[in-house]
Amino acid sequence: MVDDCIFCKIVAGDIPSSKVYEDEEVLAFLDISQVTPGHTLVVPKKHARNLLEMDETTTAQLFARVSKVAQKVKAATQAPAMNIISNMEEIAGQTVFHTHVHIIPRYTDQDELTISFTEHEPNFEQLARLAGKIQNS
Ligand code: AMP
Ligand code: ZN
Repeated sequence: MVDDCIFCKIVAGDIPSSKVYEDEEVLAFLDISQVTPGHTLVVPKKHARNLLEMDETTTAQLFARVSKVAQKVKAATQAPAMNIISNMEEIAGQTVFHTHVHIIPRYTDQDELTISFTEHEPNFEQLARLAGKIQNS
């Protein structure tokens, strides 16, 4: 438990949350901002700054629960679509530095969540070089 971490406090029960799922490893609760109805956060009980700081086993455990909770959110909300996002570091929009995965039900593409990918002309030489670099790192 990290003293000044709001999600550690939620896991410990020191701050209330709208719990939707809990087991030994993870807690899932409604995000207070509710970008769409049913917006849920899944957090590991053991503190880590974000996914990039977690080992493969702990990450696999977390994502197994993300899948389970996403199915439950879908069943409860009847949302026809969903985004699952985890922000890592400030540039990527992380504001709470305890790993969390957002489950965001989508009811319409006119809601208040905007995710846009700008397309670029593919440079296949560059792609091959970059893919190789990633493979070897
Ligand atoms: P991120 O920007 O990815 O770090 O997301 C942090 C999320 O935590 C935001 O969507 C906040 O609305 C949410 N949040 C912050 N405090 C609480 C809280 N006490 N209970 C539930 N959600 C919270
Ligand atoms: Zn924490």
